[in-house]
Amino acid sequence: MTLSPPIFNDTIAAIATAPGEAGLAVLRVSGPRALAVADACFVGRSPLADVGSHTLHHGWVVWPSTEPALERRRLDEAVAGVFRAPRSYTREDVVELSCHGGGVAARRVLAALLAAGARLARPGEFTLRAYLGGRLDLTQAEAVADLIHAETDAAGDLALAQLAGGLSRRIGTLADRLMDCVAEVEARVDFAEDVGGVEVPPHVVAAIERTRADLATLLEGSEYARAVRDGVRVTIAGRPNAGKSSLFNALLGESRAIVTDVAGTTRDRVSERLELDGVWLVLSDTAGLRASDDPIERMGVQRATESLEAAGLVLWVVDGSQSLAPEDLEFHEQHHGRRVLWVLNKSDLGVSAEAVLLSLRTTEDITCVRVSALTGDGLVSLREAIVTALGGARGGLLGQVSNPRHAEALERAARLLAQASVAAGSRAPGEIVALELRESLAAFGEVTGTHMGDELLDRIFSRFCIGK
Ligand code: GDP
Repeated sequence: MTLSPPIFNDTIAAIATAPGEAGLAVLRVSGPRALAVADACFVGRSPLADVGSHTLHHGWVVWPSTEPALERRRLDEAVAGVFRAPRSYTREDVVELSCHGGGVAARRVLAALLAAGARLARPGEFTLRAYLGGRLDLTQAEAVADLIHAETDAAGDLALAQLAGGLSRRIGTLADRLMDCVAEVEARVDFAEDVGGVEVPPHVVAAIERTRADLATLLEGSEYARAVRDGVRVTIAGRPNAGKSSLFNALLGESRAIVTDVAGTTRDRVSERLELDGVWLVLSDTAGLRASDDPIERMGVQRATESLEAAGLVLWVVDGSQSLAPEDLEFHEQHHGRRVLWVLNKSDLGVSAEAVLLSLRTTEDITCVRVSALTGDGLVSLREAIVTALGGARGGLLGQVSNPRHAEALERAARLLAQASVAAGSRAPGEIVALELRESLAAFGEVTGTHMGDELLDRIFSRFCIGK
């Protein structure tokens, strides 16, 4: 990190807690004039400018003016926490005012702080300052947003591990090793004669290979980590009467979609959220796919097709007691290679010879689970199969790459490393290998924020809420 704090001249303020009825609300003030701004509207035993860092003070918030403090209207009773630079969240002087929650108190205190000269903070600006001040790297700053947006315990754990620097450390280790490789290759290029040639020596080739392997391991769990962070759309599709609505209800554990033996009952898509092994699934029941003259059913089929396209995972349901239909085979051909689980339903009615054959074909190509939506048989296996299909059950999540921005940059780094490895292995000139390695390093740097443009920073921090 080459950025040097502090960079900002202005002092920012915002309500850090969510609106609504609550016991407390917390306001944050940060910047070179944080103590002066707070002192203009907080009356305690002594001015905050005179107190030590990391101390708490009881007092009253008043409107800032030149009148004597005792004559000014009280806006709220509050406790002020003082954190002096650089030992604060932003590395600037910070005052946190805990006042009463609810609609009125925090709004009035904020108005007083702004009247005293603070500017309303933009979304994520406190964390942006923490990042630019070198207190957090970018993966940690983004983890703050992830933690705030987390909806499951697993997503929270993932964000916390990232905030603690787990991902930064793993990436840092790889980047350091790569840096050594670059240094050695470039030294050989620069001093070719002294060190004996410009080819990449075997121990550097080995180090590049080791970094590639470690990067592959790091990316291995990323699919599931992303599912934990962002949730996944799971679409239940299949022919009419296969038992899609019954399966939808069985997975939810409630009677949400209408089940009848009249084909074509589900006209529109019905969606519900369901947590499975720490992942939020948006489960959609769709209209049965078949040709129809009924315009409403045709619209339902159209929506089902759209839902299929947008899905992260498709549960293709067939009546496993019957023979497969042309639509089933057509689906297989069209969606070959996508994430699909074949659900052979109605196992309580027996299993057709074809379904047996299909279930024997549980290969990379096709994965089948036998269930009965009616009796609940096989649902445990189906849930496990869903988690496995999403990339779960591959060890711990901690330190995994859950952010698509990080995954994209690391996948690019991996491709560049592969090119460097090929170049090094084929005895290409050291300059070429060094170039690939440097580009790969730059991709690592995008993750932790050492190579970062303002525009990208704006995009990343705009995900935050005000006060964070
Ligand atoms: P969808 O059109 O694919 O949504 O199918 P439904 O869920 O509406 O079910 C169609 C018919 O099959 C209904 O009469 C269900 O009661 C029946 N059905 C669904 N699942 C099962 C099952 O596992 N076993 C048996 N025996 N019947 C089922």
